[in-house]
Amino acid sequence: MAEKVNIINQIKRTILIVEDEFVNQEILKNILSNNYDVMVAENGVDAFRIIKSALVPISLIMLDINMPIMGGLEFLKLIKEDEQLKKIPVIVLTKEVDNELKSLELGAVDFIKKPYDYPEIVLARVARTIELAEDRTIVQAAERDNLTGLYNKHIFDEYARKIDLYTSDKKYDLCVLNISKFHIFNELYGREKGNEILISFSRVLQSCARKYNGIVGRIQSDYFAIYIAEQEDYKEFVKEIENDLIEKYDLGNLIFRIGVYRCNDKNESIEYRLDKAKLMCDSIRIINNSSYKIYDPEEVKNTLFKEKLEQDFKKAIEEKQFIVYYQAKVNIQGDKYKMSSAEALVRWIHPELGFISPGVFIPLFEKNGSVAELDKYVWQEAAYQVARWKERNGYVLPISVNISRYDMFETNLCGTLVNICKNAGIETKDLYLEITESTYSTDEKEMMKIINEFKEAGFVIEVDDFGSGYSSLNALTGLAFDVLKLDMQFVKKMLVSEKTMVIVRFVADIAKALKVLLVAEGAETLEQINVLKELGYDIVQGYYFSKPLPANEFEKLFDKEFE
Ligand code: C2E
Ligand code: MG
Ligand code: MG
Repeated sequence: MAEKVNIINQIKRTILIVEDEFVNQEILKNILSNNYDVMVAENGVDAFRIIKSALVPISLIMLDINMPIMGGLEFLKLIKEDEQLKKIPVIVLTKEVDNELKSLELGAVDFIKKPYDYPEIVLARVARTIELAEDRTIVQAAERDNLTGLYNKHIFDEYARKIDLYTSDKKYDLCVLNISKFHIFNELYGREKGNEILISFSRVLQSCARKYNGIVGRIQSDYFAIYIAEQEDYKEFVKEIENDLIEKYDLGNLIFRIGVYRCNDKNESIEYRLDKAKLMCDSIRIINNSSYKIYDPEEVKNTLFKEKLEQDFKKAIEEKQFIVYYQAKVNIQGDKYKMSSAEALVRWIHPELGFISPGVFIPLFEKNGSVAELDKYVWQEAAYQVARWKERNGYVLPISVNISRYDMFETNLCGTLVNICKNAGIETKDLYLEITESTYSTDEKEMMKIINEFKEAGFVIEVDDFGSGYSSLNALTGLAFDVLKLDMQFVKKMLVSEKTMVIVRFVADIAKALKVLLVAEGAETLEQINVLKELGYDIVQGYYFSKPLPANEFEKLFDKEFE
């Protein structure tokens, strides 16, 4: 309890002096300003205006009686009629005993005689009055967070709304600040030290908030909230907090993050805005430096969308929401163009979100590790499909499946693929494995080992998206692969960019020299096909021949002669 009082006493209270005489204003300011923030009003009307627009609560009013426009007694009467304002204690400044009585009757708690001969007495009475008022009102006692003396969440909410009420024309930001990895301080140095850090941090926030004319509260353990006028960015703000932490408390290693919710509609509740700011704050992940993030509705929508996909993954696998499409690979080197194989490309037909393309969810599942399970599912589907078509047609149409870089870390990956073929009743040479070029360039030795296992097991290896990675030409000679698949971007640009055309031709030469099959991806026009044919490309996969199709539609392409 003693500690609590101590901390609360450290907070600079705000006192409003209502006094028309300049000399008296100055004397009082001199006496008070070391211990208090002081505001000055010239008369009763002016005082009302200031109280209503003040961003900080006023702890005490010191009121002169004789003033123009609205005198002290009238002001006192009005203020005591106001539910909110009547809680503010008022000390009357007076020369005449007559007024003392009247003002006490009207609700003043004390009076101080002019001239102010004994500054210590003035200070003592002021301190006592504020203390009594704060002790007396339960509401006020509960205003403050026990540990730091900052506003608690409830009161922060109230004051923020008050700010809104009186500043309807101004934009305000709600910021949630969090000390990064605060639990580590607690674990390393103990709770007491942890508390000290929280208190120091609060002090810094308080002085920064004051500088920016804002209010600050502690909303939950190591989460703080600040409500301040809109800032274009928070670089300066972050820097100021950092500097204060270093200078005043030697806490340079404290890293914090700030989530900012920019309010465009003051009808949104403070609670709602706090949630959004906190969401932003929590979304700041890997940090070595203190940083901030401003709420962007689009980005949040995106994040929520991704989170939904991650959540729905397991069910989607169980319910077979992932559907494998097939895209024809057409041999263009004979007179008649015929399909020689196809690529299995997964799609997610989500019960609520509809069609989702792999470009959206594959990177996500590569990040969270689900891609291995998804790919296994796709490989199985593709292998059974090869078997079904083999039985129906009497011959095999090989299907290539994509192997993600992240699949390569699975134990016994090759064994898994061999088993899938075995279970489906197909041979390993009927399943082609597309491995992106970038996979080759990472941790080459380990990858090489796995790829060699694939080869030995009889799989056909295709280097996917060739040209998009960074493998050196030298590395190419050491790689085990059967097919080079030129990255789609080259085909797209080759007819408009001479330099691209040079590369397309160059890759054809490499393939010829290495005696591997050459595939071009992404051809959409006959002109592109003709150029590729002339350059010696064996196979083309592209919208010109067919888009990826679900199995039942793809089947119609089996005996088709493409043109
Ligand atoms: P990718 O393996 O390079 O697949 C080729 C992509 O090019 C496919 O996009 C295909 O639809 C698209 N494409 C083919 N021809 C054309 C064309 O003429 N014009 C245009 N604009 N696009 C064409 P999709 O199906 O959206 O797949 C994108 C990527 O997602 C794939 O690139 C692959 O990296 C990945 N992916 C797809 N399915 C799987 C899967 O089952 N497992 C893994 N790990 N990755 C997959
Ligand atoms: Mg591919
Ligand atoms: Mg590709």
